[in-house]
Amino acid sequence: MADRDGKIWFDGKLVEWRDAKVHVLTHTLHYGCGAFEGVRAYNTVNGTAIFRLQEHTERLLNSAKILRMNVPFTAEQINEAQKEVVRVNKLQSCYIRPLTWIGDKKLGVSPKGNTIHLMVAAWEWGAYLGEEGLKRGIRVKTSSYARHHVNITMTQAKAVSNYSNSILANMEATEDGYDEALLLDTAGFVAEGAGENIFVIKGGVIYTPDLSAGALNGITRNTVLHIAKDLGLDVVQKRITRDEVYIADEAFFTGTAAEVTPIRELDRVQIGAGARGPVTEKIQSAFFDIVNGRNAKYAHWLSKV
Ligand code: PMP
Repeated sequence: MADRDGKIWFDGKLVEWRDAKVHVLTHTLHYGCGAFEGVRAYNTVNGTAIFRLQEHTERLLNSAKILRMNVPFTAEQINEAQKEVVRVNKLQSCYIRPLTWIGDKKLGVSPKGNTIHLMVAAWEWGAYLGEEGLKRGIRVKTSSYARHHVNITMTQAKAVSNYSNSILANMEATEDGYDEALLLDTAGFVAEGAGENIFVIKGGVIYTPDLSAGALNGITRNTVLHIAKDLGLDVVQKRITRDEVYIADEAFFTGTAAEVTPIRELDRVQIGAGARGPVTEKIQSAFFDIVNGRNAKYAHWLSKV
């Protein structure tokens, strides 16, 4: 990432972007035990606000707990750090990246006696899968890489190490000319995208894999469950096969970065009409209303910076 002006919150202090550095013998850099979050702030009708800040911080602390890392900051401090980073960098809408890692005091595999650190950075980041993708839908390929087995890496932790799997899957798909990868679990059922949860719609019913497939418990996924309920749509969480996606009427990905992105094709098989479907459009529009502060029912999901 290019140097830029601005501040990064680093272990409780605001430091210059260029000075926010760690040592090459940092434990997490070698063994991948760390956890992070991806959070977004929106320029809402009531000013800049972070979407579902508490839930993201809670998931960060839960990820650390799963990884047996004792984060030396409270949820309140981590919430405040995120608000502060948005404020001091004068960002109106942005992506926020908190990361917790194990320090450089010693390099044995056991992290006992090492230090735990936390940083929060923020920057402007538009539509992750492209503005065009949000409107027209994206092309997805089933990955040759399986999603993590639930007892190999911990799938409910947003763990740094889990993302080599996401990187491989995303690179394979994008190098083949697709926009994103769809990963199956080790039993062959649909799990999630490289950085997104998946939903399919068939006969007016919405389906999404239950979390036993090893998908991350996405906060956007949860937001969509609320939206579907408000719209009077049934959601079934169950095992889904890849051919159920081929014959779905509509499909879409969800994620903090990806927001609600329609899927128009899987493995060169057109899904439904091959465009953003009417149910997806309704959900997407409800989602953007909520994150932009246009739905009073969910005002409590927006934390003003
Ligand atoms: N699955 C994976 C692997 C992800 O990286 C993400 C992005 N955090 C998601 C799902 C979606 O989660 P969320 O909606 O909380 O961003």
